[in-house]
Amino acid sequence: MVSFTTLILTILSISFVVFVIFFGRIPALRNTPIATLNRLILVHVPNGILAVDKKLTGGRLTTGLLRFGRYLMNDRHPTVLIFYIALLVGSEYLFLPEAWQYLSTFHRVAGTIAIILPYVFLYLAAFTDPGYITHTNHAYHMQLYPYDFSIFQPGHECRTCRFLKPARSKHCNICKKCVSRNDHHCIFINKCVGYRNHRWFVLLLLSTAVLASYGALMGVSIMADQIRDKYPFWSIWPAKDVDWSQYFFAWGWGLQENLGIGAITLLTGMLAPMIWSLLAYTMFLVYCGTTTNETLKWSDWKVDMDDGFAFRRRMSPNRQKFTTIEPAWTRWPVETEQVLTSCENGHPPPEDAPLPGEGPWERVWRLKDIVNMYDLGLWDNLRDVFFLDYDFRRGRLPSGGGRLRRQKPPKASPL
Ligand SMILES: [Zn+2]
Ligand SMILES: [Zn+2]
Repeated sequence: MVSFTTLILTILSISFVVFVIFFGRIPALRNTPIATLNRLILVHVPNGILAVDKKLTGGRLTTGLLRFGRYLMNDRHPTVLIFYIALLVGSEYLFLPEAWQYLSTFHRVAGTIAIILPYVFLYLAAFTDPGYITHTNHAYHMQLYPYDFSIFQPGHECRTCRFLKPARSKHCNICKKCVSRNDHHCIFINKCVGYRNHRWFVLLLLSTAVLASYGALMGVSIMADQIRDKYPFWSIWPAKDVDWSQYFFAWGWGLQENLGIGAITLLTGMLAPMIWSLLAYTMFLVYCGTTTNETLKWSDWKVDMDDGFAFRRRMSPNRQKFTTIEPAWTRWPVETEQVLTSCENGHPPPEDAPLPGEGPWERVWRLKDIVNMYDLGLWDNLRDVFFLDYDFRRGRLPSGGGRLRRQKPPKASPL
């Protein structure tokens, strides 16, 4: 009984730490205990170890560790990708030989499909170009989205890549390249999640979540059948007057009889909710027409708004474009109708300031009063993620090779 409780507690603690590490940096959880714990685990504890090591060995131990840590954090390497594949292969190796005999033909077929799909989507997510921007394809990436003059202003050049940053792109310090509609750098696929592989990333999350849930359900049902054979009084849903110690004792027996199945059932049972939550968060961002990178930019604007530093004015959607720094044409069906600027003295910009837009400046207090022009509504947002180069103006997929029409790239020049 004790070992069973210890096992449960250990798996619970490991899952909780994994949860805090994965979710602690999500902007939605800023200023929550999860974010504080994340900083404790990733910043304060390592700093503490560093301080102790400095006192004891003069910092010899941590110099090597730090070099390794810097490599892990700042360079592309497949460590976590390999860990993920090992986790999949290892779990299947432990689970399948024991479980196969208990599975019906239907579950054998469905299970095989559920096992294959995460590998397929992992391959597609990790080996598809996420939308790396080069001098050759720069014009194409410029035509995907117009600038919204709020979180993406035209005229900014990437200092590393030496071209104008297309709207919604971001330079990744780990990939060392600019990535089109960059969501975030994902250590599981050892690449950025960007314009061209976002759909594979979503399907990877979905297929992994389904596999983990499927594995947990199959494991529970196999063990429950055996436990019921041995203890006929027992049922998965405990009766009202159940003796809890007997109930868990029977579970413990079931786990020990099927160690492989039991361990993987516990693991998948813990991991499945996390993967579903990550998928839900990813789909929520798609629903909002935004990316992880953009939510960070919006939350910076929120700080300015709270301080009363954010101002907005009108922008005519039919304005003359600054074609030296922004594309004359994009496939996006809407243009911005607002310009956002911040003034740290708390006063609106002077009338004669050389800023885009027209009319008087008004102070903005809430993000709710701002329009996110990259949000076209759920269905079009899904089309943008799942159908590459979808032509929103004509409402169809691109014909002839899937490339948007080419035009001369705008040249860099200050606004
Ligand atoms: Zn760049
Ligand atoms: Zn990256």
